[in-house]
Amino acid sequence: MLAAENVHTLVPTRPQADLFRLAALHRYHILDTPACEDFSFLTELATKVCEVPYAFISLVDADRVWIKSCSGMQMGELPRGESYCSLAVLGDAATEIPDLTQDYRTAGMALTVNAPHMRMYSSVALKSSDGHAIGTLCVLDTQPGRLSDDKRAMLVKLARQVMALIELRANERTLEATVRELEMLATTDELTGLHNRRSLLQRVKFEVARARRFRSPLSAVMIDLDHFKKINDEYGHAVGDQVLAAVGRLVRENVRVIDVPSRYGGEELCVLLPNTPVEGACKFAESLRLKIEALVHPLGVRQLHVTASLGVGSFNHMEIDDVESLFKQADAALYRAKHGGRNRVACGSD
Ligand code: GH3
Ligand code: MG
Ligand code: MG
Repeated sequence: MLAAENVHTLVPTRPQADLFRLAALHRYHILDTPACEDFSFLTELATKVCEVPYAFISLVDADRVWIKSCSGMQMGELPRGESYCSLAVLGDAATEIPDLTQDYRTAGMALTVNAPHMRMYSSVALKSSDGHAIGTLCVLDTQPGRLSDDKRAMLVKLARQVMALIELRANERTLEATVRELEMLATTDELTGLHNRRSLLQRVKFEVARARRFRSPLSAVMIDLDHFKKINDEYGHAVGDQVLAAVGRLVRENVRVIDVPSRYGGEELCVLLPNTPVEGACKFAESLRLKIEALVHPLGVRQLHVTASLGVGSFNHMEIDDVESLFKQADAALYRAKHGGRNRVACGSD
């Protein structure tokens, strides 16, 4: 039967406490992550130090025990009811069961009854920074017995290393997400959700170089909203912002993943179209013009419509060979569209 010193460590927990424990585990985002040599090294070290055939890093989830790493056998996960570790996380930091056949909860478990017929289990809880046991580092043997004090002390130290590695991975993940978010903030225009001017200027340099290298076409479409000042003057700046944001959304939703939709400045937008000759760019510009014209901007009980003038500049390896000339050509075309009566597209140098 269960040895007296383990009765205390294996008392069932309250479901509420398990919820807090699971929340702590899930904060680390480690479940179902790919195998990793750093963790395998620690389980391998545990078997060597404790002189046993098996070691596991087990994480006790709601219904399963997910094995981050194991030494001595292949194992991905176990049902929670079949795992010694699910009992161990309910108790104190360290749990040892000298003979698994003598504990009424472990005697019938598959790993005890079937091969490899586990007999000894010794574990150290992996404690989250807020004190919850999220899993264990455990060692197992097919012979009954106990770990010596020295070996247990080493297992405790190794468990600390496992937890430090779990914390490190979680911090790396948070850092990567923060960097991604900062990159996004630094390159995105807040009002329209489009690339900001700085991001456009960076991307256009890259795209011009690529177009030159591969002799592929590149186009830029400048979009300027017509009489936008009047919208601000008549309905207020907030309505102007709303209109600009809606046009930004429309442009974003109508480009390919390789395109660079951006806010060039004020109420002027620019879409960079890699690998697109002037004909394709003009077609795209015309379809965008129609969609902008068809947009309905609700204004209380009334509706507001805006139009845009668009100018297309195209990079053709023989004629235009730098960013400035590409934008200059698109700007000149936009000027022609404005002076031709607005709500129209002008293409290239025609
Ligand atoms: P045109 O047809 O010749 O382009 O006329 P326009 O009135 O659009 O041109 P103009 O350049 O004279 O005015 C642009 C207006 O766009 C003036 C400016 O206040 C407004 N604008 C620029 N950026 C923003 C913005 O972020 N929000 C709002 N609401 N208005 C903006
Ligand atoms: Mg304008
Ligand atoms: Mg303008």
